[in-house]
Formats: sequence, C-alpha cells, structure tokens
Amino acid sequence: MTVDPSNAPSASANVAAPQAYVATSSAELGRFSRPSKYAGFIAGLPKAELHVHHVGSASPRIVSELASRYPGAPVPTDPSKLAEYFTFSDFAHFIEVYLSVVDLIRDAEDVRTLTYEVARDMAALNIRYAELTVSPYSSIRRGIPGEQFMEAIEDARVSAERDLDLVLRWCFDIPGEAGIPAADVTLDAATRLAPAGLVSFGLGGPEIGVPRPQFKAHFDAARAAGLHSAPHAGETTGPQTVWDALQVLGAERIGHGTTSAQDPALLSYLAEHQIPLEVCPTSNIATRAVARLEDHPLSAFVAAGVPVSINSDDPPMFSTDLNHEYGVAAELLGLDESGLADLARNGVRHSFAPDDVKSRIVAEIDSYLNTHGR
Ligand SMILES: [Zn+2]
Repeated sequence: MTVDPSNAPSASANVAAPQAYVATSSAELGRFSRPSKYAGFIAGLPKAELHVHHVGSASPRIVSELASRYPGAPVPTDPSKLAEYFTFSDFAHFIEVYLSVVDLIRDAEDVRTLTYEVARDMAALNIRYAELTVSPYSSIRRGIPGEQFMEAIEDARVSAERDLDLVLRWCFDIPGEAGIPAADVTLDAATRLAPAGLVSFGLGGPEIGVPRPQFKAHFDAARAAGLHSAPHAGETTGPQTVWDALQVLGAERIGHGTTSAQDPALLSYLAEHQIPLEVCPTSNIATRAVARLEDHPLSAFVAAGVPVSINSDDPPMFSTDLNHEYGVAAELLGLDESGLADLARNGVRHSFAPDDVKSRIVAEIDSYLNTHGR
C-alpha cells in the first residue's frame, strides 16, 4: 500500500497511523534475504504485475532524474546518496522521504517522466503487462489539471507498449485516508476523464478508521461504467474488511487480503468464487502486517485453493522488485521452474488484460519454460 500523508485531514493523524514503514532487517527476512537459486530463471521469465503503485515505484534513478529538475528540493540527485536517502530509519523518516518524492511531481511532464521511467524499470525485469495503481487525486489536488494528468499517463502507456514491449493498464485508487472528497475526484477522473488504459477502480491507504462501506456508491458507479473492482482489504485489519470489500464494493480481486487466512469461511468463499488475492510478501513485512516472511500466509492461501498473484506493491520503498518477490514465493511455496511458470501464468490470467494480450504472454511463458526450464 501507499499512504500519501499529505492527503490526510491532518498530518498528525497520519504520523500516528499504525502502519510502520521501516527497513526490513535480515532477521525478519531470514533466508529470504539471499538471492533465490532460481534468480536467473525468474529474471528472464515473462511476468505480469497486478499490484504496484505509481509514485511508490519511483526508483532512486527516477527520483534522481526528477530531483535534477528542482535544484531547491531536499532530495539528493546523486544516485549513490539516494540509496542512503531511501533507507528508512523509522516511520517518520519514511513519511519525510515519501513526501519529498511526491513533491517532485509538480507538472504533467513530471507525471509523464515518472510513468515512462517506471515502465522502463518494469520492462528490465521482463514484466510484459502491469496494472499500475494510480491515485489521480493526489496530483489533481496539487494543481495538475486532470486532463493533463490523463494525457501524460496515456502518452507514457502508448510509448511503453511501442518501445518496451510492456502493456500498461491503470487502476484508479481512492486514497482512503482522504475520505469522500477524494473518492469524488477519483470517480470523476475514472468516469468523465476515463483514459483508454483504465481497467479498474481501487481503494488504498490505511484501513483502520477508513471503513470500506462508505465508498459503496463510488464503487457502484465505477462498476456501472464498466470498471473492475479491485480494492485493498485485509492488509492491516481483519477478515471483516475483506468481506466488506467483497459484499459491499463488489471486489473481483483483493489487494493483499492477508488477514483472510484468519477466517476459514472467507478462504472457502475466495476459493469457491475464484477471487484472486494480490499478494505482496516483502511489503507485508515492511509494514508489519506480517512479522516474519516464514509466517506469511501465502502457502495457506494456495492450500485452500485461493487464486494468488505475486506482486511488489511499492518496490523501491521496500528494497525489493517483482523478481525478488518471485524468489520469495518460490521459497515459501517450494516451487521449481515449472511452479514459477505457473505463478507467472496466474498473474496473467488474474489480470484485466485483453484476451489477446493474455494469450500472447501465456504463450511466451510456455515457450520460455520449454527453453529454460529443466
Ligand atoms: Zn498497495
């Protein structure tokens, strides 16, 4: 998840938020901090990513490029100093860094650069399809006109497909901490401005104090406009939040859904209705949603027959990327090359990609496994 602290009604409300973004320690990551023995196979495997945030994907390289446009900004432009800058000592430090990155996105050209450069980083990981979670509210309230914002992301999307062999789609996400006014702006962006690449409607930010049902009317309207429902739920609160997302917001996929593991009836429901969970293992450690990677419920989801995809959430913020997350999943689930290829196929199948894109990428995965699998 991404919390944009400046969206909150008051800054102090956010600093007191229960989610703690801190650097993960090797004790928490344990054996998962080592590179996977399948790292080479995973690196070349064609993949889809379904849960990854726009601003939260700004790597030190991208931040350095944006910072060079604004010499007065507190962000270092030297990539080696930036790596240090991106090492968070505590939650307050994370807030400071995240806000300073947000502050570098001041006009439509910054939005275009961020989006295209995020796509370039994804393509380097052999990601062929991604649904990028975008929060237009954050940029619109900072004064970037909605029309220009849409033009910028769409221009980056078209360029990425042409230059990088990466198909991008958007999930427009309500920053829950900003409440109904943010939901109104997000819905307007999704239905009136309606960029061609938009496929789904989401809800992120803190879950505590942000009940999902208050956004029912917004999700109803977005679904009526043909968008898929893909809210975050059960990341930092219990299974009831996932039930609310399913029953009130019509969720077709759940962002995280981590605490679903606490409710056998919910696991059965997700399995029966084949509602996929977008699992982001390292993110769950960094936000303290799960104490240690070896305690992650991913294997419980798979054992219960719940469909899953593997994702990176805010990768540079959590010192990870999608390839690393596939390595973590291989370790948690005991997968070999063939199992990893299944995971990649599931990412494609659970996506909201057009059918021809899905079949093309699945065929690429099959062919890659034939050539590179054992
Ligand atoms: Zn998220």
